[in-house]
Amino acid sequence: MPKNGQTQQFNKAAFKAAVEKHLTTTYAATDDTATTRSWYLAMGKALAEISTGNLLATEKNLAEQKARSVNYLSLEFLIGRLTGNNLISMGLYENVAEAMEEMGQNLTDLLEEERDPALGNGGLGRLAACFMDSLAAQEYPAVGYGLHYEYGLFRQSFVDGRQVEAPDAWRGIEGYPWEVLRPELAQEVSLYGHVEAYTDENGVECRRWVPGMTVEGVAWDLPIVGYDNKSVYPLRLWECRSNAPFNLARFNDGDYVGAQYSALEAGNVTKVLYPNDNHDQGKALRLMQQYFHCACSVADILRRHEAAGNTIESLAELETIQLNDTHPTIAIPELMRILLDEYKLGWDKAWEISSKTFAYTNHTLLPEALETWSEALIQQMLPRHMEIIFEINHRFMKLVEQTWPGNNEVKRKLSIIQEGPHRMVRMANLCVVSTYAVNGVAALHSELVKRDLFPEFNELFPGRLTNVTNGVTPRRWIKYCNPGLSALISEKVGNDWPANLEKIAGLEKFADDAAFQKRYMAVKKENKQRLADWVEENMGIELDTDAIFDIQIKRLHEYKRQHLNLLHILALYHRLLNDPTFDMHPRVFFFGAKAAPGYALAKDIIFAINKVAEKVNNDPRLGGKLKVVFIPDYRVSLAEILFPAADVSEQISTAGKEASGTGNMKFAMNGALTIGTMDGANVEMREEVGDENIFIFGLLVDEVQKLKEEGYDPYRYYHADSLLRAALDLLETDEFTPGNPGQLAAIRHNLLDGGDPYLVLADFADYVKTHEKIDAEYRDQKTWARKAILNTALMSKFSSDRSIRDYANNIWKLEPVSL
Ligand SMILES: *Cc1c(COP(=O)(O)O)cnc(C)c1O
Repeated sequence: MPKNGQTQQFNKAAFKAAVEKHLTTTYAATDDTATTRSWYLAMGKALAEISTGNLLATEKNLAEQKARSVNYLSLEFLIGRLTGNNLISMGLYENVAEAMEEMGQNLTDLLEEERDPALGNGGLGRLAACFMDSLAAQEYPAVGYGLHYEYGLFRQSFVDGRQVEAPDAWRGIEGYPWEVLRPELAQEVSLYGHVEAYTDENGVECRRWVPGMTVEGVAWDLPIVGYDNKSVYPLRLWECRSNAPFNLARFNDGDYVGAQYSALEAGNVTKVLYPNDNHDQGKALRLMQQYFHCACSVADILRRHEAAGNTIESLAELETIQLNDTHPTIAIPELMRILLDEYKLGWDKAWEISSKTFAYTNHTLLPEALETWSEALIQQMLPRHMEIIFEINHRFMKLVEQTWPGNNEVKRKLSIIQEGPHRMVRMANLCVVSTYAVNGVAALHSELVKRDLFPEFNELFPGRLTNVTNGVTPRRWIKYCNPGLSALISEKVGNDWPANLEKIAGLEKFADDAAFQKRYMAVKKENKQRLADWVEENMGIELDTDAIFDIQIKRLHEYKRQHLNLLHILALYHRLLNDPTFDMHPRVFFFGAKAAPGYALAKDIIFAINKVAEKVNNDPRLGGKLKVVFIPDYRVSLAEILFPAADVSEQISTAGKEASGTGNMKFAMNGALTIGTMDGANVEMREEVGDENIFIFGLLVDEVQKLKEEGYDPYRYYHADSLLRAALDLLETDEFTPGNPGQLAAIRHNLLDGGDPYLVLADFADYVKTHEKIDAEYRDQKTWARKAILNTALMSKFSSDRSIRDYANNIWKLEPVSL
């Protein structure tokens, strides 16, 4: 039975006393000197006392019950602010608001004091956060393992339209109130050195790693609070600290480790999150982060397993380890090393345990995002792991030889080691060979993993390659961020939908109800006003909420095609100024996106959008019909304002390039209509809502592949389409950069002479036509309301609760355990 009530015993007087205590003893503030920030911090600490108690109780219960658990390993957890969300999960939102009010504090203002923990780049990190929320909500035993970066994803600002990056010290100087240091869980992590052979006391030939240095891993736990239940799971984040003096002595004694790295620098391992999304950079410090994360996490999993009185032989029965992309792949040779060298298991036994423990999620087909590591680098930093990888590959190559005798081409293709002048280790191949399940993240993507990326692996290991379609948590992405819509949904379908999203299908029968349509659209209007107020206050741009709010928010990447959106805006600009017969409903185009600091074209696209915005927003000739707003520093807390305010959701990646997307789901749940390609989860969203309730355009995956094979010529489209030509040519002029023609020309150059790798020009005409359809349909508000309601009603498949049940039932074989 859904509980739907307060899940925590709440003693208001005791809570207020705890806040007062933290105000004075933890933050040294008095009622007179306390700022809003000190009140927020003290409140957070008082709440963390409750969640920490439940976290320890959950840990104890799961150990006693010998419950099977999943360990979710991810280099990124883009959790966003915790306070408001945890208050909802704990069922304490109203109680705490009242308690704080009695102390003269407004809860909404206090919540605004929290800085987002931006410990991730984009979709992959946000997925890990939604998954932790859904594991806890459904009480599937879990630990999230990540890194305690000192600096999260950079803060973005614009100077003269260009992106400027600043460090994100997300913990502030006071530390983050929700995090709890777990000194007893510290681990020592080895690096560098060499491998030696020795004969043990039983006369057996063994190998062992003699490290060149060690660093310390310190655990911080963030509480993942189960919605409407008492379970709290740890998100365990490792911070690296160097124990320098000890290591320096060893260095100086001639224990040479390549001398590329000093013990002092080891303190930097968890200093900063690498800001690349869908791009492999191959830097040594990143490999060190990955190994540090895996070594601490695997050691902690084994510690828990043994502390609960279990034998190493039962590891795979009680623990499973999910690798979020290949970033934590080095956990596989790390577990093998421990089983072989420390537990002294034979290879076959160690391999059986290891390969039944690990599962791997593939997040991309993009070649530039598939990680490879230099064999020489691994050899130097992790010599024993390199030996183990060679052994895994040696045995795997025998299997390939048995299956395809004498076929060197297939061996070259499948080998974990990529041959060449500089040999590289292919982490995805290592994962497929060494895990019991490999999943893609949407039906289309998973089919392409089987068909295009790993066809031979699919033959070799039938059934191993599978699909789990992504999802998002309805607690954060509807209930918390859209209270107006939430109240409306609860009124119609009852209030247990946040934990049972199937229930929102009950809205379907109100899609044609005129009174309901009005109220639904009134909520949308309020949410648009909330966003317009934010924009006016923070950017000084005035917006009309009768305009269509058309939003593209996601990392800046060519494959996501923000420049296709820009070309459409330029086409509208051109038509408004040059075609007296052209009319359009007023529209505001919103963007939010960070570009990787080293990604020049992505930064050029940001600059171009900002320059176009400057001109367009102040051009009286446009009669206020066109506005462009690039929201700086896009992050979870801004996403929470943007998704509920959208009329139109832009999901326009080149077909075959976006593995799933999750922004698409958040928009649709909140009643935005999607304009999108047949890519990622858009395909399944279309299946759910029906073709009439989504705007699909563009080439299909097979058409994209065919066009590329035939020899794609972007100039063909340029010459054939005068509107496209006008839009592209505007980028050569000084229309948006007065006195400086050519400042935006890099984009045009990339699309024409650069070959347009993501087929922007090929999809342009259909994109423009589909936007014309949107314009026409928006004018009929009743029809639009019906479609928007149906989008909300038909999105239950995309709850991350369903994703987690798929993992639990089909991959992990995991049962819920309630506290
Ligand atoms: C959902 C989300 C993403 C992922 O968006 P996509 O459109 O799926 O790429 C990225 N960043 C934030 C802050 C998000 O909330």
